[in-house]
Amino acid sequence: MSTLVESPRDPAQAVLDTVVRAGDGWCHPLRAGQVLRIVDLEGNQAVDTLFYALDDSAERYDACATMRAQGAIYLTTGTRLLSDRGRDLLTIIADTCGRHDTLGGACSCESNQVRYALDKRWMHSCRETFLLELARSGRGLTKRDLGHNINFFMNVPVTPAGALTFADGVSAAGRYVEMRAEVDTLVLISNCPQLNNPCNGWNPTPVRLLVWDA
Ligand SMILES: [Zn+2]
Repeated sequence: MSTLVESPRDPAQAVLDTVVRAGDGWCHPLRAGQVLRIVDLEGNQAVDTLFYALDDSAERYDACATMRAQGAIYLTTGTRLLSDRGRDLLTIIADTCGRHDTLGGACSCESNQVRYALDKRWMHSCRETFLLELARSGRGLTKRDLGHNINFFMNVPVTPAGALTFADGVSAAGRYVEMRAEVDTLVLISNCPQLNNPCNGWNPTPVRLLVWDA
C-alpha cells in the first residue's frame, strides 16, 4: 500500500536548491535532522540513490535490511532506510508518488549490453555516474563501495510468477519524495540516463533537489 503524504516545507526556506540534469549526478552530505526532497520535475524519471554513514562510509544503505524491517518491497512514507549495521540512516517522511523501487538496481554498461544489445555497451549509465561522483567527492570511495541502490520514482513491479518488470512509470511532473537524515549521511545520486527501457519514460529529464535544516 502506498501512503501519499504532502510536505509542509516551503522551498523558499530551503538551504540548498539545485537541479540535476538528466544523466548527471550529485554527491552531498546531509547532517542529522536535515531533510532532502527529490522532485521529479517532468515525470517518470528514475533517480538511482545510495547512502553512506558520513563518519564511516563502510556503513551504508542496505536494501535487504530495509525491506525486511518494513515487511514490504516498495518504499514510501514511513519507510526507514536502514544501514547494513541495522541503523536508521534516513526516514521517508513525505511522498506524493507512492512507490519507489529498491530491487531493480542501477544500469551499467554490462547490463545494457546483456539486456539490450552489444552496441548499447557504450551508452552512459548510472554506474558510471556513481563512480564519477564518488571520485569527485575525494572520499576514497570506489567500485567496491557501490551496493544495491534505491530507484526513486521507478516502477519495478514483481509479477505473481516472481519476475521483475521494468514498467511504465507511476510518477508524474512535480511529484516528490522527502526524507529526513537520522544520522550524518552522504547521499550519492545518479539521475538515470537509461534509454533502453521505460524507467525514464524513454526520455530522461532533470530533477530538483532541496535541503532544509532541522
Ligand atoms: Zn540508470
